[in-house]
Amino acid sequence: MNLTSRTILITGASRGIGAAAARAFARYPVCLGLLARSQERLVALAEELNQNPNVEALPLVADVSVREEVEQAVAQLETHFGAVDILVNNAGVGMRSPVGAIDMAKAHLLFEINFWGAIHVIEAVLPGMEAQRDGLIINISSIIGRRAMPNAGIYCASKFALNAISEAMRLELRGKNIRVVTFYPGVTDTDMTKHELTGDATHESRGKVRRTPVEVTARAIVRAAQREPRDAYATLFDRVFVLSATLFPALMDRMLARFYRARDE
Ligand code: NAP
Repeated sequence: MNLTSRTILITGASRGIGAAAARAFARYPVCLGLLARSQERLVALAEELNQNPNVEALPLVADVSVREEVEQAVAQLETHFGAVDILVNNAGVGMRSPVGAIDMAKAHLLFEINFWGAIHVIEAVLPGMEAQRDGLIINISSIIGRRAMPNAGIYCASKFALNAISEAMRLELRGKNIRVVTFYPGVTDTDMTKHELTGDATHESRGKVRRTPVEVTARAIVRAAQREPRDAYATLFDRVFVLSATLFPALMDRMLARFYRARDE
């Protein structure tokens, strides 16, 4: 999609990938809705982006897990800028625990945010997109939404579920000129582990995993908005990882088992 004068809604825009995506979209003359729960961060980011005379940014305080809050935020955005042209459905949280020791309340909360939250936002923006017969939805999944990892089963399941919705919607909305991109970030350099619902954040830092700079992921999201591929990745490594996991699942089991054994020793 040509980005000029588009209205773009980014959820989870208060930090991490969402905030970086907002800055990357702000290189173009666009109207930005910045949605998350942390008002102060959103207001500061909107002020920063509004320094650019070609950009209009609006902070939208809402919890994606609360449908009414999402509907109010989208209504506010539409009043300001008109219907959403591009939705970057990015808000999400992590959680770590092996099956057998799952904190059920937190697992349900994770699904309320990562899965149902994403659907709340899609349902809120769809009427506007349908009315203008144009729109692009970019669902932010994860490479581990294609190949699950030990101790991350619930988080991975929420992203597998989101992928299913992307696939179904892509065909449902084809006749309405609304396109759906699934974007699969790999390990990206954000503070996500600090905000996990459960788990020991220091655990991850022991791994020798290369982290993609958040600006690289953000630029790849902007490219995905412009080119509209079915599936999009931030790096070649992420693409090859998903392809290998799809083609050679048993081999991937063996490689991952070796990786985790070496990491935990
Ligand atoms: P992050 O730095 O923790 O940022 C998460 C964002 O989501 C924040 O802006 C947070 O804002 C927002 N958020 C969380 N719960 C929310 C809620 N209930 N309602 C509204 N907003 C909410 O994480 P990130 O690394 O940028 O991750 C962004 C997305 O990329 C997530 O969907 C994540 O699953 C996915 N991803 C990340 C990685 C990675 O390595 N970082 C890899 C693959 C996929 P508030 O707290 O202010 O609400």
